[in-house]
Amino acid sequence: MTEKGKVRVVVVGANGRMGREVVRTVVKDPGLQLVGAVDRSVEKEDVGVVLGLGETGVYFSDKLGETLLKSEADVIIDFTTPNVVRDNIYTSLEYGVRPVVGTTGIPQEDLQAWDRILQDKGIGGLVAPNFAIGAILMMKFAAQAARYLPHVEIIEMHHDQKLDAPSGTAIKTAEMIVKERQRMVQGHPDEEEKLAGARGADFEGMKIHSVRLPGYVAHQEVILGGIGQTLTIRHDSISRESFMPGVAMAAKKVMEFTGLVYGLENLID
Ligand code: NAD
Repeated sequence: MTEKGKVRVVVVGANGRMGREVVRTVVKDPGLQLVGAVDRSVEKEDVGVVLGLGETGVYFSDKLGETLLKSEADVIIDFTTPNVVRDNIYTSLEYGVRPVVGTTGIPQEDLQAWDRILQDKGIGGLVAPNFAIGAILMMKFAAQAARYLPHVEIIEMHHDQKLDAPSGTAIKTAEMIVKERQRMVQGHPDEEEKLAGARGADFEGMKIHSVRLPGYVAHQEVILGGIGQTLTIRHDSISRESFMPGVAMAAKKVMEFTGLVYGLENLID
């Protein structure tokens, strides 16, 4: 922390769709201070100038370790890609910097390994497949409803540049539902797919369908079926700003706990 008590933040993937929004949020938030911006897709220019925010004195870099060393960061906020996030997290852990991770597609084994390191180092970290409060509520309501309507299909819809499928939010929703409903297999036992994948991905007997189209940001429907009725719970992120209050909150709260928290719902009452 600085003398002013601000949390010192390095944004990783700072020139991406989410990263740019995160940089804007950090620059505007009086409790946060932008001390570094890492992305491999941009020259060493002032981040604020590139993003139209005016000079910030913080320059894009493509070297995370060097940036962490120079900036004395408290926290990294990572919105990169599933194939590079692991290296970024290990680099941040090496420097004792708390990771706040929005990048999706992270295997469970990695979460467990990071938790052990964070515990050993006595610092906190957060991985959240979705930082939008409405999406957190959608997941909670879906899990609650599955106690009474245990037949569930999840349909998630995202922009067509998304790299991982199904989305981290869909997997997290399925994990939360599995904890609430009795173990079961849905649909007809003799069901046959005439085209491979027609019934979607299987998550412990539940189906997940991924739609990818330009025009979408991040959307999800959870459809629960019962005798003579269905219940649909839907959330739409219509702009990336929807994630930002959650990201800013996480960057501050991660200073207060030890170990890895998986899911923003664990930081909210
Ligand atoms: P994007 O492709 O627009 O941005 C990724 C950025 O990471 C790019 O600018 C790229 O140059 C940069 N990058 C790649 N490798 C790098 C490296 N080694 N070091 C530094 N930077 C590197 O993607 P996006 O739409 O911003 O999404 C990023 C991630 O965030 C995805 O995994 C997406 O699923 C996830 N996401 C999460 C939430 C959430 O609420 N948790 C919301 C939206 C998106």
